[in-house]
Amino acid sequence: MLLENKVIMVTGAASPRGIGKATAKALAAHGAHVVVIDLRKEDAEAAAEDLGRAHLGLGCNVTDKSACVSAVDATLERYGRIDGLINNAGITQPVRTLEIGGKDFDAIVDVNLRGTLYMSQAVIPAMKAQTSGSIVCMSSVSAQRGGGIFGGPHYSAAKAGVLGLAKAMAREFGPDHIRVNSITPGLIQTDITGDKLTPDMRTEIIKGIPLGRLGDAADVANACLFLVSDLSTYLTGITLDVNGGMLIH
Ligand code: NAD
Repeated sequence: MLLENKVIMVTGAASPRGIGKATAKALAAHGAHVVVIDLRKEDAEAAAEDLGRAHLGLGCNVTDKSACVSAVDATLERYGRIDGLINNAGITQPVRTLEIGGKDFDAIVDVNLRGTLYMSQAVIPAMKAQTSGSIVCMSSVSAQRGGGIFGGPHYSAAKAGVLGLAKAMAREFGPDHIRVNSITPGLIQTDITGDKLTPDMRTEIIKGIPLGRLGDAADVANACLFLVSDLSTYLTGITLDVNGGMLIH
């Protein structure tokens, strides 16, 4: 058990085939109390219940700062501490540069980047008081290679912003023993791609992946487990690629 009695919040963790839910499951299997955060309270509660009785589900839109603070307050009220935060909530949009409208830009940047800032701001005071904590931020290979397969340029920009934010927070809060690291997944089989991934596209994409397959949510969940646990106590400000070799740099 790597996380016995640790309290870890995971945003965007109600999507049934998503990275967040797989992460919540992996953390719970290692003894953590997991706080499942998602847009709809009922979905978050149901996902927490799936994990067992030691867990909590909370409705929270990560773009709403006061909602993030309330989620942290509810977590502290129930468990008294917060050891980890996985900033996983994210949305994408498969459009090209000239098609990006102001509302699209705001939506993508708000959830992926602003949400990461707001949730981090909400948990950091408790982590500072404990002088310990680990924050994991979900970026994307799209930030590194300039466009993913399903993410438009605004998604790449927001996810690149996540990398910069995470590194800056790592530097700022290292003295408080709060570690901040990022993960850059390649193409992971979840519902984020909607029905846009056709069998032909899939075959073509796999040709460019040395390990010969798309990623599973569990592949990213295990990377989160590593970064949030004491296995990685001397790591902060890093970017961990989980992409099957899709991008080697
Ligand atoms: P998903 O769509 O299955 O899950 C995303 C979850 O975030 C959903 O449960 C959704 O309800 C929640 N969410 C959306 N907006 C929210 C908000 N404002 N507040 C709270 N919750 C919100 O997607 P996924 O593929 O599991 O993606 C998880 C993360 O991994 C995202 O940040 C995504 O950008 C990133 N990522 C995914 C892939 C991939 O190929 N699947 C690749 C690279 C990065």
